[in-house]
Amino acid sequence: MRVGVVGGGLAGALLAWRLREASDRLRVEVLTGGRGTADASAVSGGLVRGFEPDPDAGAVAAESLAELRADARLRDWSGYREIGSLYVLSDDVDPARSVQVLGERLPGSAELVGAARLRRDYGLRGVREDAVGVVERHAGYLSPDRLRGKALDWSADHGVEVVRTGVASVRDGPAVRTSDGAERCYDVLVVAAGAWTPRLVEHGGTLRTKQIQYGVYRIPLPGLGSFVDDDTGLYGRPWGAGTFLLGLGCDRWDVAPEAVRPDPALVGRVLDVARDRLGVTARDPVPERVVASFDCYGPPAGLRLRPVRGRPGVFTFTGGSGGAVKTIVAASRSAASDLLNTL
Ligand SMILES: Cc1cc2nc3c(=O)[nH]c(=O)nc-3n(C[C@H](O)[C@H](O)[C@H](O)COP(=O)(O)OP(=O)(O)OC[C@H]3O[C@@H](n4cnc5c(N)ncnc54)[C@H](O)[C@@H]3O)c2cc1C
Repeated sequence: MRVGVVGGGLAGALLAWRLREASDRLRVEVLTGGRGTADASAVSGGLVRGFEPDPDAGAVAAESLAELRADARLRDWSGYREIGSLYVLSDDVDPARSVQVLGERLPGSAELVGAARLRRDYGLRGVREDAVGVVERHAGYLSPDRLRGKALDWSADHGVEVVRTGVASVRDGPAVRTSDGAERCYDVLVVAAGAWTPRLVEHGGTLRTKQIQYGVYRIPLPGLGSFVDDDTGLYGRPWGAGTFLLGLGCDRWDVAPEAVRPDPALVGRVLDVARDRLGVTARDPVPERVVASFDCYGPPAGLRLRPVRGRPGVFTFTGGSGGAVKTIVAASRSAASDLLNTL
């Protein structure tokens, strides 16, 4: 059985690793690169936690985190740092079910906190009296770039062929035409090309791309670990030596990956929101680094294996929707298992 995987980002790399681990009867080939652009996995913020407002998404995130924490090899591959996490909910979300789901997978990790503790322990300002936050002990961040690199290296050492080439088109068969004009045929083909996926396969127009942007600011935020604040849209994590990664949601949809450029207005808005919400001012308003990248969005949000209608043997594994790092360990396991069931 020949399985082709287009894309060596987090999605393609971990799917190839899972397939190799699950079966040595498969001939797996990863075709990646050739675009000359850094991918999402190379610059991702890497925040991981088990809580999500949607309990189904939370179950996948919590399963991922539980496996990551329990597996020394995955911890090493990913450079996981457990620094805890705070998630401040918007006022229309009841966290009870999601916290229960998380507690089943990571017992004792989550705790609900109210407005007083959000102010006292985290220094948040402008907090609603009925505000709720979810604090997780077992959460933090990892390096998506390192994780996919290690998974690809391991896969290559165990018989997966990693071919550095661009795919120009996906053909029926299934097959691909590479950018040097060669044709490669498979029994099953999985397109895991992130924000480039909609160019290679149509999903009835449901897959979209969106810009994601953050900056690394010299800003004093002691005591704050990884955090997401759904009231303001601010998120971040410690970056290193007095610096903090801070981002806000970006509204640039349907971007072409190679055309993404930083939005300067957003760079400034992040500092305004950080000042109002966290009461801190950056030592230098110019960030040390600005990252403007992109991801492929669902619906539904989240990485999953989807058959492409009208193209037998062709699937996509994408749709990370700005959050695939926290679900990749469990999502790649499910995708490999679903794929093996189709063979
Ligand atoms: C700035 C930023 C911050 C983020 N922060 C977080 C976070 O804190 N927590 C979290 O959970 N998620 C986060 N995410 C989301 C997460 O990083 C992404 O969902 C994930 O990395 C997507 O991985 P991917 O493999 O689907 O896509 P990518 O990493 O973009 O990989 C796609 C791959 O396909 C290859 N490719 C494309 N076209 C072709 C072709 N035609 N032929 C061959 N190869 C091709 C590319 O070269 C690339 O290697 C963030 C994303 C961004 C951009």
